[in-house]
Amino acid sequence: MNADTTARDGEKTAERIEPGPAPATLTVEDLSVHYGGVCAVNSIGFTVEPGQSVGIIGANGAGKTSTLKALMGLVPRSAGRVTFGGVDLTKVKAREIVRHGIGYVPEGRHVFPGLTVEKNLMLGAYARAWRGAGTRESLAEVYELFPVLGEMRGRLAGALSGGQQQMLAVGRALMARPRLILLDEPSMGLSPKLVEGILAVLLRLREEGLSLLLVEQNAKLTFEATSDCVVMENGEVAMVGTSRDLRDDVQVRRIYLGL
Ligand code: ATP
Repeated sequence: MNADTTARDGEKTAERIEPGPAPATLTVEDLSVHYGGVCAVNSIGFTVEPGQSVGIIGANGAGKTSTLKALMGLVPRSAGRVTFGGVDLTKVKAREIVRHGIGYVPEGRHVFPGLTVEKNLMLGAYARAWRGAGTRESLAEVYELFPVLGEMRGRLAGALSGGQQQMLAVGRALMARPRLILLDEPSMGLSPKLVEGILAVLLRLREEGLSLLLVEQNAKLTFEATSDCVVMENGEVAMVGTSRDLRDDVQVRRIYLGL
């Protein structure tokens, strides 16, 4: 696939929806997700304001991934309302949600191993929400954020290490120029050193004013990367607060930080 063709196609497809780079708030109200008779998410609510970084922490099976998938329309929502910049996302098809300016980095990276690093990134540009800055400029920004991806642009994604593939997955989401990025366990399977690298990237994205919704089992990383947090237990919101307050909470420290 030719990179320029991809860029043109992405821009052409995006002509119908051009939300522009205006700041947008994500509002989640009474959201529920059921898998058959199993309730994975039970009437949860939270908001992510423009430029805010919010974490969702919780143990295995607490409902974090199901929450992100429900926001992206990838699993059916059994109840609730989700709006972004005033648009009711429950009425938007899953494949169109990204064009409203929400980037999604799923658990487990999901890069295309048989395509080069650059072609993986260009696939992200296909979903860009509005015309404006060129695809080449976005590519340069991603290479600036992740120099290693620039160095390896011609390599097959399957040849990258786990940490590099995670960076590629984040870079690909950024190519669509999102206003909000949802990240599902970016630290999973990475060494402590690489987790530090992920933290540095998240802090940089925060500095640049991107809104973040970070789902993690790694509470330490989440408290450092975000301003506010939601603690999920058994599909429900158990606690909400600033990341600093939650990090200092005795119960949270015992359960989620093992201190
Ligand atoms: P993890 O950190 O392990 O990813 P999580 O907090 O993201 O956990 P979910 O993956 O959302 O939690 O799972 C919430 C509940 O829903 C769990 O009980 C899980 O077994 C169940 N569940 C998740 N996906 C499915 C599915 N496709 N079919 C049936 N049950 C599911």
